[in-house]
Amino acid sequence: MKLARFSISNAIHWGVLSGTTLDLIDGDVYSDWELSGRRVELDTVTLLAPCTPTKAVCVGLNYYDHAREMNLSLPAEPLLFLKPSSTLAHPGGFIEYPTMSENVHFEAELAVIIKKQAKKIPAAAAYDYVLGYTCANDITARDLQLKDGQWTRGKSFDTFLPVGPWVETAVDPHTLTITLEINGALRQHSNTSNLIFKVPELIAHITQVMTLYPGDCILTGTPAGVGPLAIDDTVTVTLEGIGRLENTIIKG
Ligand code: MG
Repeated sequence: MKLARFSISNAIHWGVLSGTTLDLIDGDVYSDWELSGRRVELDTVTLLAPCTPTKAVCVGLNYYDHAREMNLSLPAEPLLFLKPSSTLAHPGGFIEYPTMSENVHFEAELAVIIKKQAKKIPAAAAYDYVLGYTCANDITARDLQLKDGQWTRGKSFDTFLPVGPWVETAVDPHTLTITLEINGALRQHSNTSNLIFKVPELIAHITQVMTLYPGDCILTGTPAGVGPLAIDDTVTVTLEGIGRLENTIIKG
């Protein structure tokens, strides 16, 4: 099932996507909800990021192919960092290229959307806390990330976290082809089977540290092939069985 968040007539709704139709839901998408009986066509709505995170917890160096590409040894445990909720950007929306940076990179990632409050969850129970999966782009000012020696500024400009286009609730997160294209040219191509730490291990590890809330997202890391973006580029992240997340770069 694909759950979309969107606006229509200045109101925000969630709906279930079937073909090109959205069935609006009543209730809380993270707990109890039902179909309202109202329907709208997908091409009449503005899609929004399908989550409302208090934080995005991100994992660095979590693909075997990316670790090989960077000539780095495999991490012994997940390397975590945060992006604030103010980084969120919408499907089809703009990513602002900040004037402070001269080297902004794309990073295609599988995002996990959290369904219910999670603290100290064992890996065996982790899937009970997952609403579903979507595409994300961990936009990074690489020059500032390296210059600062820690990652907050380089990862945290407004619009540096496009997420969407919707949440797929019924998919195996470890068998998906993941690609990234710039202006139609393929730049990243891997499979989520190459994840070093899988989704249950990540949830177990993260929730030993911090509580996750409904709508929080986990960015699971990027595969090989990261590189620079330019103003006016269109960047597209595709995850097999989920969808395509497309954004355009504008001058900040
Ligand atoms: Mg990343």
